[in-house]
Amino acid sequence: MTFEKSEILYNKGLVHLVGAVNSPVRAFQSVGGNPLFIKKAKGSKIKDVDGNSYVDYVLSYGPMILGHRHKKVEKAIKKALKNGYSFGATSEGELKLAKIICKAFPGMDKVRFVNSGTEAVLSAIRLARAYTGKNKIIKFSGCYHGHSDALLVAAGSGLATLSLPGSKGVPEKAVENTLIAEYNNLESVKKHFEDSDDIAGVILEPVAGNMGVVVPQDGFLQELKAYLESKGALLIVDEVMTGFRSKFGGAQEVLGVEADITCLGKVIGGGFPVGAYGARNEIMEMVAPLGGMYQAGTLSGNPIAMAAGISTLSQLKKENPYKGFDILAEKIEKILLGAAKIHNVPLTVNRFGSMINPFFTDVKVTDFPSAQTSDTESFGVFFWELIKQGLFIPPSQFEAWFLSTALSEKDLEKTSKAIHKAMEKVAEFQKSKAE
Ligand code: PLP
Repeated sequence: MTFEKSEILYNKGLVHLVGAVNSPVRAFQSVGGNPLFIKKAKGSKIKDVDGNSYVDYVLSYGPMILGHRHKKVEKAIKKALKNGYSFGATSEGELKLAKIICKAFPGMDKVRFVNSGTEAVLSAIRLARAYTGKNKIIKFSGCYHGHSDALLVAAGSGLATLSLPGSKGVPEKAVENTLIAEYNNLESVKKHFEDSDDIAGVILEPVAGNMGVVVPQDGFLQELKAYLESKGALLIVDEVMTGFRSKFGGAQEVLGVEADITCLGKVIGGGFPVGAYGARNEIMEMVAPLGGMYQAGTLSGNPIAMAAGISTLSQLKKENPYKGFDILAEKIEKILLGAAKIHNVPLTVNRFGSMINPFFTDVKVTDFPSAQTSDTESFGVFFWELIKQGLFIPPSQFEAWFLSTALSEKDLEKTSKAIHKAMEKVAEFQKSKAE
Protein backbone atom coordinates (compact mmCIF):
# COMPACT_ATOMS: atom_id res chain seq x y z
CA MET A 1 0.00 0.00 0.00
CA THR A 2 1.41 3.40 -0.95
CA PHE A 3 0.19 6.92 -0.32
CA GLU A 4 2.33 8.60 -3.00
CA LYS A 5 -0.43 10.48 -4.77
CA SER A 6 -1.93 11.62 -1.48
CA GLU A 7 1.52 12.94 -0.49
CA ILE A 8 1.85 14.85 -3.78
CA LEU A 9 -1.60 16.41 -3.40
CA TYR A 10 -0.91 17.19 0.24
CA ASN A 11 2.23 19.14 -0.66
CA LYS A 12 0.39 20.96 -3.44
CA GLY A 13 -2.50 21.62 -1.05
CA LEU A 14 -0.25 23.36 1.46
CA VAL A 15 0.14 26.28 -0.97
CA HIS A 16 -3.42 27.56 -1.10
CA LEU A 17 -5.25 25.64 1.62
CA VAL A 18 -4.51 25.95 5.32
CA GLY A 19 -2.69 22.74 6.23
CA ALA A 20 -4.11 21.32 2.97
CA VAL A 21 -7.50 20.82 4.62
CA ASN A 22 -10.76 22.66 5.16
CA SER A 23 -11.43 21.30 8.64
CA PRO A 24 -8.66 20.63 11.19
CA VAL A 25 -9.56 17.08 12.17
CA ARG A 26 -8.98 16.05 8.55
CA ALA A 27 -5.30 16.97 8.96
CA PHE A 28 -4.41 13.72 10.80
CA GLN A 29 -2.31 15.86 13.15
CA SER A 30 -3.20 13.94 16.29
CA VAL A 31 -2.29 10.56 14.80
CA GLY A 32 0.93 11.81 13.19
CA GLY A 33 1.33 11.74 9.42
CA ASN A 34 -0.32 13.42 6.49
CA PRO A 35 -3.94 13.24 5.38
CA LEU A 36 -5.28 10.90 2.76
CA PHE A 37 -6.85 12.45 -0.29
CA ILE A 38 -10.10 10.78 -1.23
CA LYS A 39 -11.14 10.24 -4.80
CA LYS A 40 -14.49 8.54 -4.52
CA ALA A 41 -16.83 6.48 -2.41
CA LYS A 42 -19.61 3.97 -2.96
CA GLY A 43 -21.68 1.99 -0.51
CA SER A 44 -19.61 1.05 2.55
CA LYS A 45 -16.27 1.83 0.89
CA ILE A 46 -14.15 4.87 0.31
CA LYS A 47 -11.16 5.03 -2.07
CA ASP A 48 -8.13 7.30 -1.92
CA VAL A 49 -6.27 8.81 -4.88
CA ASP A 50 -3.69 5.98 -4.73
CA GLY A 51 -6.46 3.44 -5.34
CA ASN A 52 -6.49 2.10 -1.75
CA SER A 53 -9.95 1.04 -0.66
CA TYR A 54 -11.21 1.26 2.92
CA VAL A 55 -14.32 0.21 4.79
CA ASP A 56 -15.59 3.63 5.81
CA TYR A 57 -16.35 4.28 9.49
CA VAL A 58 -15.97 8.05 9.10
CA LEU A 59 -18.93 8.51 6.76
CA SER A 60 -18.19 12.21 6.40
CA TYR A 61 -18.40 12.39 10.23
CA GLY A 62 -21.90 11.03 10.27
CA PRO A 63 -24.11 12.19 7.41
CA MET A 64 -23.67 9.16 5.12
CA ILE A 65 -25.81 6.82 7.23
CA LEU A 66 -27.01 4.95 4.12
CA GLY A 67 -23.46 4.58 2.84
CA HIS A 68 -22.20 6.49 -0.17
CA ARG A 69 -24.21 7.20 -3.29
CA HIS A 70 -27.34 5.38 -2.23
CA LYS A 71 -29.38 4.72 -5.40
CA LYS A 72 -32.59 6.39 -4.17
CA VAL A 73 -30.77 9.47 -2.87
CA GLU A 74 -28.80 9.85 -6.06
CA LYS A 75 -31.97 9.60 -8.12
CA ALA A 76 -33.65 12.29 -6.01
CA ILE A 77 -30.66 14.62 -6.33
CA LYS A 78 -30.50 14.19 -10.10
CA LYS A 79 -34.22 14.90 -10.38
CA ALA A 80 -33.94 18.05 -8.25
CA LEU A 81 -30.94 19.32 -10.24
CA LYS A 82 -33.08 19.59 -13.34
CA ASN A 83 -35.26 22.22 -11.67
CA GLY A 84 -32.44 24.57 -10.69
CA TYR A 85 -29.94 24.87 -7.87
CA SER A 86 -31.07 27.72 -5.66
CA PHE A 87 -33.99 30.12 -5.80
CA GLY A 88 -33.89 32.56 -2.88
CA ALA A 89 -37.53 31.66 -2.30
CA THR A 90 -39.28 28.79 -0.59
CA SER A 91 -39.73 25.56 -2.53
CA GLU A 92 -41.89 22.55 -1.76
CA GLY A 93 -38.98 20.37 -0.65
CA GLU A 94 -38.53 22.57 2.43
CA LEU A 95 -42.12 21.87 3.48
CA LYS A 96 -41.69 18.14 2.97
CA LEU A 97 -38.45 17.88 4.95
CA ALA A 98 -39.85 20.10 7.71
CA LYS A 99 -42.89 17.82 8.02
CA ILE A 100 -40.77 14.67 8.27
CA ILE A 101 -38.58 16.26 10.95
CA CYS A 102 -41.43 17.71 13.02
CA LYS A 103 -43.25 14.36 12.97
CA ALA A 104 -40.10 12.59 14.17
CA PHE A 105 -39.44 15.01 17.04
CA PRO A 106 -42.57 15.63 19.13
CA GLY A 107 -41.01 18.73 20.70
CA MET A 108 -40.78 20.43 17.33
CA ASP A 109 -43.80 22.18 15.84
CA LYS A 110 -41.70 24.31 13.54
CA VAL A 111 -38.21 24.12 12.14
CA ARG A 112 -35.80 26.58 10.48
CA PHE A 113 -33.25 25.24 8.00
CA VAL A 114 -29.70 26.59 7.96
CA ASN A 115 -26.50 25.36 6.29
CA SER A 116 -24.50 23.64 9.02
CA GLY A 117 -24.63 22.29 12.55
CA THR A 118 -22.66 25.29 13.75
CA GLU A 119 -25.31 27.64 12.38
CA ALA A 120 -28.11 25.56 13.87
CA VAL A 121 -26.60 25.70 17.35
CA LEU A 122 -25.65 29.36 17.36
CA SER A 123 -29.16 30.23 16.22
CA ALA A 124 -30.70 27.96 18.86
CA ILE A 125 -28.75 29.76 21.55
CA ARG A 126 -29.84 33.14 20.27
CA LEU A 127 -33.40 31.81 20.33
CA ALA A 128 -33.09 30.56 23.92
CA ARG A 129 -31.86 33.99 24.96
CA ALA A 130 -34.63 35.73 23.03
CA TYR A 131 -37.30 33.52 24.58
CA THR A 132 -36.13 33.63 28.20
CA GLY A 133 -34.73 37.17 28.18
CA LYS A 134 -31.62 35.77 29.91
CA ASN A 135 -28.02 35.75 28.73
CA LYS A 136 -25.99 32.87 30.09
CA ILE A 137 -25.72 29.38 28.63
CA ILE A 138 -24.31 26.30 30.31
CA LYS A 139 -22.37 23.82 28.21
CA PHE A 140 -20.63 20.61 29.24
CA SER A 141 -16.90 20.18 28.91
CA GLY A 142 -16.04 17.80 26.08
CA CYS A 143 -19.24 18.51 24.16
CA TYR A 144 -18.69 20.15 20.79
CA HIS A 145 -21.37 22.36 19.31
CA GLY A 146 -19.66 23.84 16.26
CA HIS A 147 -17.20 26.68 16.05
CA SER A 148 -19.23 29.76 17.01
CA ASP A 149 -17.31 32.03 19.40
CA ALA A 150 -19.45 31.50 22.48
CA LEU A 151 -19.16 27.71 22.32
CA LEU A 152 -15.45 27.33 21.64
CA VAL A 153 -14.62 26.70 25.26
CA ALA A 154 -13.91 23.30 26.77
CA ALA A 155 -15.07 21.83 23.47
CA GLY A 156 -14.25 18.29 22.43
CA SER A 157 -13.64 17.15 18.85
CA GLY A 158 -10.71 18.77 17.03
CA LEU A 159 -9.89 21.05 19.96
CA ALA A 160 -9.55 18.04 22.23
CA THR A 161 -7.16 16.24 19.94
CA LEU A 162 -5.09 19.39 19.47
CA SER A 163 -5.14 19.84 23.26
CA LEU A 164 -6.41 23.37 22.91
CA PRO A 165 -8.47 24.79 25.79
CA GLY A 166 -10.26 27.08 23.38
CA SER A 167 -9.52 29.04 20.26
CA LYS A 168 -7.35 32.05 19.71
CA GLY A 169 -9.29 34.95 18.30
CA VAL A 170 -12.29 34.43 20.59
CA PRO A 171 -12.62 37.55 22.75
CA GLU A 172 -13.09 37.00 26.46
CA LYS A 173 -16.29 38.97 26.19
CA ALA A 174 -17.66 36.44 23.70
CA VAL A 175 -17.39 33.59 26.22
CA GLU A 176 -18.22 35.43 29.42
CA ASN A 177 -21.80 34.20 29.17
CA THR A 178 -20.78 30.58 28.64
CA LEU A 179 -20.64 28.53 31.83
CA ILE A 180 -19.01 25.10 31.92
CA ALA A 181 -20.40 22.05 33.71
CA GLU A 182 -19.31 18.39 33.82
CA TYR A 183 -21.22 15.86 31.73
CA ASN A 184 -23.29 13.40 33.77
CA ASN A 185 -23.04 15.69 36.78
CA LEU A 186 -26.23 17.56 37.65
CA GLU A 187 -24.65 19.11 40.73
CA SER A 188 -22.20 21.00 38.50
CA VAL A 189 -25.21 22.52 36.69
CA LYS A 190 -27.01 23.39 39.91
CA LYS A 191 -23.94 25.25 41.19
CA HIS A 192 -24.19 27.69 38.30
CA PHE A 193 -27.87 28.35 39.00
CA GLU A 194 -27.01 29.03 42.64
CA ASP A 195 -24.58 31.74 41.46
CA SER A 196 -26.70 33.31 38.71
CA ASP A 197 -30.32 34.08 37.86
CA ASP A 198 -29.37 35.03 34.31
CA ILE A 199 -29.21 31.52 32.76
CA ALA A 200 -31.22 31.00 29.56
CA GLY A 201 -30.56 27.29 29.25
CA VAL A 202 -28.27 24.31 29.00
CA ILE A 203 -26.95 22.90 25.75
CA LEU A 204 -25.69 19.36 25.46
CA GLU A 205 -25.10 16.45 23.15
CA PRO A 206 -27.67 13.88 24.39
CA VAL A 207 -25.02 11.26 23.67
CA ALA A 208 -21.65 12.89 23.37
CA GLY A 209 -19.73 11.97 20.25
CA ASN A 210 -17.02 14.59 20.31
CA MET A 211 -15.05 13.31 23.30
CA GLY A 212 -15.38 9.82 21.93
CA VAL A 213 -18.77 8.27 22.60
CA VAL A 214 -19.97 9.12 26.11
CA VAL A 215 -23.43 8.01 27.13
CA PRO A 216 -25.62 9.83 29.64
CA GLN A 217 -26.14 7.97 32.89
CA ASP A 218 -29.65 6.69 33.64
CA GLY A 219 -31.95 9.54 34.55
CA PHE A 220 -29.38 12.29 33.91
CA LEU A 221 -31.30 13.94 31.07
CA GLN A 222 -34.70 13.62 32.76
CA GLU A 223 -33.41 15.09 36.01
CA LEU A 224 -31.68 17.87 34.12
CA LYS A 225 -34.88 18.66 32.19
CA ALA A 226 -37.00 18.72 35.37
CA TYR A 227 -34.46 20.92 37.13
CA LEU A 228 -34.31 23.38 34.21
CA GLU A 229 -38.09 23.54 34.07
CA SER A 230 -38.14 24.46 37.75
CA LYS A 231 -35.73 27.29 36.98
CA GLY A 232 -37.54 28.56 33.88
CA ALA A 233 -34.52 27.66 31.72
CA LEU A 234 -34.48 25.77 28.43
CA LEU A 235 -32.97 22.43 27.51
CA ILE A 236 -31.23 22.74 24.13
CA VAL A 237 -30.44 19.31 22.77
CA ASP A 238 -27.79 19.25 20.08
CA GLU A 239 -28.73 16.28 17.92
CA VAL A 240 -26.53 17.35 15.02
CA MET A 241 -24.76 14.00 15.33
CA THR A 242 -27.46 11.80 16.87
CA GLY A 243 -30.57 13.06 15.04
CA PHE A 244 -31.99 10.29 12.80
CA ARG A 245 -28.83 8.31 13.67
CA SER A 246 -29.58 7.02 17.19
CA LYS A 247 -33.16 6.45 16.17
CA PHE A 248 -35.59 8.15 13.76
CA GLY A 249 -36.57 10.49 16.60
CA GLY A 250 -32.94 10.92 17.62
CA ALA A 251 -31.37 10.21 20.98
CA GLN A 252 -34.40 11.93 22.54
CA GLU A 253 -36.61 9.05 21.41
CA VAL A 254 -34.23 6.43 22.80
CA LEU A 255 -33.62 8.22 26.08
CA GLY A 256 -37.18 9.41 26.62
CA VAL A 257 -36.56 13.11 26.98
CA GLU A 258 -38.01 16.07 25.08
CA ALA A 259 -35.90 19.12 24.32
CA ASP A 260 -37.19 22.68 24.38
CA ILE A 261 -35.03 23.40 21.34
CA THR A 262 -33.50 20.73 19.12
CA CYS A 263 -30.54 21.23 16.79
CA LEU A 264 -30.02 18.98 13.77
CA GLY A 265 -27.50 18.61 10.96
CA LYS A 266 -25.46 15.88 9.28
CA VAL A 267 -27.96 13.05 8.40
CA ILE A 268 -30.81 15.45 7.53
CA GLY A 269 -28.79 16.71 4.54
CA GLY A 270 -27.84 13.26 3.26
CA GLY A 271 -24.31 14.52 2.54
CA PHE A 272 -25.23 18.09 1.60
CA PRO A 273 -24.77 21.13 3.86
CA VAL A 274 -27.92 21.34 5.98
CA GLY A 275 -28.57 22.20 9.60
CA ALA A 276 -31.83 22.92 11.39
CA TYR A 277 -33.20 24.06 14.70
CA GLY A 278 -36.72 23.67 15.90
CA ALA A 279 -39.01 23.89 18.91
CA ARG A 280 -42.67 24.17 19.88
CA ASN A 281 -44.66 27.01 18.33
CA GLU A 282 -44.44 29.49 21.21
CA ILE A 283 -40.62 29.38 21.01
CA MET A 284 -40.25 29.30 17.21
CA GLU A 285 -42.63 32.23 16.87
CA MET A 286 -39.84 34.38 18.31
CA VAL A 287 -37.87 33.86 15.04
CA ALA A 288 -38.10 36.43 12.20
CA PRO A 289 -40.33 37.01 10.27
CA LEU A 290 -42.83 36.02 12.99
CA GLY A 291 -40.82 37.45 15.87
CA GLY A 292 -37.95 39.67 16.81
CA MET A 293 -35.07 37.17 16.77
CA TYR A 294 -33.21 37.68 13.51
CA GLN A 295 -31.62 34.80 11.64
CA ALA A 296 -31.27 34.42 7.88
CA GLY A 297 -29.41 32.57 5.09
CA THR A 298 -28.89 32.97 1.33
CA LEU A 299 -28.71 29.23 0.68
CA SER A 300 -30.87 28.00 3.59
CA GLY A 301 -33.31 25.31 2.52
CA ASN A 302 -31.37 24.72 -0.69
CA PRO A 303 -33.53 22.55 -2.99
CA ILE A 304 -30.83 20.00 -3.84
CA ALA A 305 -29.95 19.57 -0.16
CA MET A 306 -33.64 19.24 0.70
CA ALA A 307 -34.07 16.52 -1.94
CA ALA A 308 -31.09 14.60 -0.54
CA GLY A 309 -32.46 15.00 2.99
CA ILE A 310 -35.99 13.91 2.13
CA SER A 311 -34.84 10.78 0.32
CA THR A 312 -32.32 9.89 3.05
CA LEU A 313 -34.90 10.22 5.81
CA SER A 314 -37.59 8.42 3.79
CA GLN A 315 -35.21 5.53 3.24
CA LEU A 316 -34.36 5.42 6.95
CA LYS A 317 -38.04 5.39 7.82
CA LYS A 318 -38.61 2.52 5.42
CA GLU A 319 -35.58 0.45 6.44
CA ASN A 320 -35.76 1.17 10.18
CA PRO A 321 -32.14 0.07 10.59
CA TYR A 322 -31.76 1.01 14.25
CA LYS A 323 -32.01 -2.43 15.82
CA GLY A 324 -29.62 -3.72 13.18
CA PHE A 325 -27.17 -0.96 14.08
CA ASP A 326 -27.26 -2.03 17.73
CA ILE A 327 -26.49 -5.61 16.79
CA LEU A 328 -23.68 -4.53 14.49
CA ALA A 329 -22.17 -2.20 17.08
CA GLU A 330 -22.32 -4.98 19.67
CA LYS A 331 -20.40 -7.25 17.29
CA ILE A 332 -17.73 -4.59 16.75
CA GLU A 333 -17.51 -4.00 20.50
CA LYS A 334 -16.91 -7.73 21.02
CA ILE A 335 -14.25 -7.77 18.34
CA LEU A 336 -12.48 -4.78 19.91
CA LEU A 337 -12.63 -6.13 23.46
CA GLY A 338 -11.71 -9.64 22.32
CA ALA A 339 -8.63 -8.41 20.44
CA ALA A 340 -7.63 -6.21 23.38
CA LYS A 341 -7.89 -9.18 25.74
CA ILE A 342 -5.78 -11.45 23.54
CA HIS A 343 -3.05 -8.81 23.34
CA ASN A 344 -3.39 -7.55 26.88
CA VAL A 345 -4.18 -3.99 25.85
CA PRO A 346 -6.23 -1.91 28.33
CA LEU A 347 -9.37 -0.89 26.44
CA THR A 348 -12.77 0.59 27.17
CA VAL A 349 -15.43 0.56 24.46
CA ASN A 350 -18.41 2.92 24.53
CA ARG A 351 -21.27 2.73 22.08
CA PHE A 352 -24.77 4.02 21.46
CA GLY A 353 -26.77 2.86 18.44
CA SER A 354 -24.62 3.37 15.36
CA MET A 355 -21.87 5.26 17.19
CA ILE A 356 -18.98 3.44 18.82
CA ASN A 357 -15.40 4.00 19.82
CA PRO A 358 -12.58 2.42 21.77
CA PHE A 359 -10.59 4.29 24.40
CA PHE A 360 -7.09 3.03 25.22
CA THR A 361 -7.67 3.08 28.96
CA ASP A 362 -9.04 0.72 31.59
CA VAL A 363 -10.98 3.58 33.19
CA LYS A 364 -14.75 3.72 32.75
CA VAL A 365 -15.38 6.67 30.43
CA THR A 366 -18.31 8.80 31.58
CA ASP A 367 -17.12 12.37 30.99
CA PHE A 368 -14.34 14.43 29.44
CA PRO A 369 -11.71 13.92 32.18
CA SER A 370 -12.16 10.13 32.05
CA ALA A 371 -12.08 10.21 28.21
CA GLN A 372 -8.76 12.03 28.44
CA THR A 373 -7.17 9.12 30.33
CA SER A 374 -6.99 7.38 26.96
CA ASP A 375 -3.49 6.79 25.60
CA THR A 376 -3.61 8.80 22.38
CA GLU A 377 -0.21 7.51 21.23
CA SER A 378 -1.59 3.98 21.23
CA PHE A 379 -4.59 5.28 19.32
CA GLY A 380 -2.21 6.70 16.68
CA VAL A 381 -0.54 3.30 16.25
CA PHE A 382 -3.96 1.63 16.07
CA PHE A 383 -5.21 4.15 13.51
CA TRP A 384 -2.34 3.72 11.06
CA GLU A 385 -2.43 -0.06 11.21
CA LEU A 386 -6.17 0.03 10.52
CA ILE A 387 -5.49 2.24 7.51
CA LYS A 388 -2.93 -0.30 6.25
CA GLN A 389 -5.50 -3.04 6.78
CA GLY A 390 -8.15 -1.13 4.81
CA LEU A 391 -10.28 0.52 7.52
CA PHE A 392 -10.97 4.25 7.58
CA ILE A 393 -11.80 5.46 11.09
CA PRO A 394 -11.68 9.08 12.32
CA PRO A 395 -8.07 10.21 12.80
CA SER A 396 -8.75 11.19 16.39
CA GLN A 397 -9.25 9.39 19.67
CA PHE A 398 -12.11 11.73 20.47
CA GLU A 399 -14.38 11.21 17.47
CA ALA A 400 -17.08 8.56 17.22
CA TRP A 401 -16.89 5.84 14.57
CA PHE A 402 -20.10 5.75 12.54
CA LEU A 403 -21.95 2.78 11.06
CA SER A 404 -23.89 2.79 7.82
CA THR A 405 -26.63 0.54 6.48
CA ALA A 406 -24.27 -0.36 3.63
CA LEU A 407 -21.92 -2.41 5.84
CA SER A 408 -21.86 -6.08 4.82
CA GLU A 409 -20.79 -9.30 6.56
CA LYS A 410 -17.68 -9.22 4.38
CA ASP A 411 -16.89 -5.71 5.64
CA LEU A 412 -17.29 -6.97 9.18
CA GLU A 413 -14.86 -9.85 8.55
CA LYS A 414 -12.34 -7.37 7.15
CA THR A 415 -12.97 -5.15 10.18
CA SER A 416 -12.32 -8.02 12.57
CA LYS A 417 -9.03 -9.01 10.89
CA ALA A 418 -7.89 -5.38 10.77
CA ILE A 419 -8.70 -4.77 14.43
CA HIS A 420 -6.84 -7.90 15.55
CA LYS A 421 -3.78 -6.91 13.53
CA ALA A 422 -3.89 -3.31 14.77
CA MET A 423 -4.30 -4.40 18.39
CA GLU A 424 -1.21 -6.59 18.01
CA LYS A 425 0.72 -3.50 16.86
CA VAL A 426 -0.58 -1.51 19.82
CA ALA A 427 0.57 -4.25 22.20
CA GLU A 428 4.05 -4.21 20.62
CA PHE A 429 4.13 -0.43 20.90
CA GLN A 430 3.03 -0.42 24.54
CA LYS A 431 5.62 -3.09 25.36
CA SER A 432 8.45 -1.19 23.69
CA LYS A 433 7.39 1.99 25.46
CA ALA A 434 7.40 0.26 28.84
CA GLU A 435 10.93 -1.12 28.32
N1 PLP B 1 -22.92 19.84 17.06
C1 PLP B 1 -22.40 18.60 17.09
C2 PLP B 1 -22.88 17.66 18.15
C3 PLP B 1 -21.45 18.19 16.17
O1 PLP B 1 -20.97 16.96 16.23
C4 PLP B 1 -21.04 19.11 15.18
C5 PLP B 1 -20.03 18.73 14.20
O2 PLP B 1 -19.40 17.73 14.25
C6 PLP B 1 -21.60 20.39 15.17
C7 PLP B 1 -22.54 20.72 16.12
C8 PLP B 1 -21.20 21.38 14.13
O3 PLP B 1 -21.70 20.98 12.89
P1 PLP B 1 -21.03 21.50 11.54
O4 PLP B 1 -19.68 20.86 11.47
O5 PLP B 1 -21.98 21.02 10.49
O6 PLP B 1 -20.96 22.97 11.62
